[in-house]
Amino acid sequence: IAWWDHVLPAPKDPIFCVTEAFHADSSPNKINLGVGAYRDDEGRPVVLQCVREAEARIAGSRFLESNSAAVSSKMVEESVKLVFGQDSDVVNEGRFAGVQALSGTGACRLFAEFQRRFHPESRIYLPDPTWSNHHNIWRDAQVPAKNYHYYHPDSKGLNFSALIDDIKNAPDGSFFLLHPCAHNPTGVDPTEDQWKEISYQCKVKNHFPFFDMAYQGFASGDLEKDAQAIRIFLEDGHLIGCAQSFAKNMGLYEHRVGCLSILCNDSKQGAAVRSQLQQIASAMYGSPPVHGVLLVSTILSNPDMKSLWIEEVKMMLYRIQKMRTTLQESLENLDSPLNWENITKQVGLFFFSGLTPNQVEQLAREFHIYMTRDGRISMSGVTTGNVNYLANAIHEVTR
Ligand code: PMP
Repeated sequence: IAWWDHVLPAPKDPIFCVTEAFHADSSPNKINLGVGAYRDDEGRPVVLQCVREAEARIAGSRFLESNSAAVSSKMVEESVKLVFGQDSDVVNEGRFAGVQALSGTGACRLFAEFQRRFHPESRIYLPDPTWSNHHNIWRDAQVPAKNYHYYHPDSKGLNFSALIDDIKNAPDGSFFLLHPCAHNPTGVDPTEDQWKEISYQCKVKNHFPFFDMAYQGFASGDLEKDAQAIRIFLEDGHLIGCAQSFAKNMGLYEHRVGCLSILCNDSKQGAAVRSQLQQIASAMYGSPPVHGVLLVSTILSNPDMKSLWIEEVKMMLYRIQKMRTTLQESLENLDSPLNWENITKQVGLFFFSGLTPNQVEQLAREFHIYMTRDGRISMSGVTTGNVNYLANAIHEVTR
């Protein structure tokens, strides 16, 4: 029977390939710089203290059909405050549609479906480069995607003028996906003034800004500061969309907790949009699991736990920043002829190193160091114990 004979293996996920190669390597020196989540200085995944406390608090609580909706809307309300501001009028007046989503990926996918359904002729503009799954998500939702200029390989910084040109040249009323902080994979964020200009130009062109916020807190260590780009757009009177993930900043990757919010003109519109989002979700997966949502809502609605979380985000970022400084200093101490200041100029989890695919391959082959082919180094894989070995290896392949 030939039902599935025509099915060929799907192309492998680039990050999965890195992890696979890393696990297959038996060298004691091996380093995995592919992971997109936080690791401690021993290279281990971390369960935050605030999460442990929330776990203890909710232990034994019963998940009843009758209260899961309330838990979910509490989580949504607390999540959107992180984006729109603690005392935001938007939240107080209910001028938004917010739904719980399956982490950041699920929030993006839900939005893409919603976009296709209510703006069937529209496209999505994605930064070049971007998280590779953005392309898959909007493709599967059958929304055509186009790139806009973002990264400048020579300066390893933002190609701001080309970005602005792309905003100006896109058809009026286009959808633009923006990373509000800690851009993946480049670690390059616009400055405050550049955000103001981006917001202004989007407003002139009546574009819809969709923010994919996967790393709030990981750019500056300050959750509020990392929402600055979004606040600028709000002040300028945009209606925006936002995908939030608690995978990284709360270490809840496996729980798949996220939120999708869409700003609306008033609460009535908010309720209509929300009901449509819920309908799309219910046909795709029913409703998401409640456990992680309960953790997030417990932490965010309890002032002590929330403060603890805010401190823990700072601590995670502090370690990453320390590794950036150490890596840069180590390379400089080796008298590397290259300029490594972008290691500390770039922000978030990643250093977009500019290493060529050949150099990346050589690092794997000769030094057991694994990263994606685009040269993206996840700084969370760098530790006090391996940073000098890494610097030496990078020096060897780039000298
Ligand atoms: N957006 C971006 C830019 C990301 O880097 C990621 C994670 N790699 C996500 C969304 C989705 O993450 P998750 O689904 O794990 O929350």
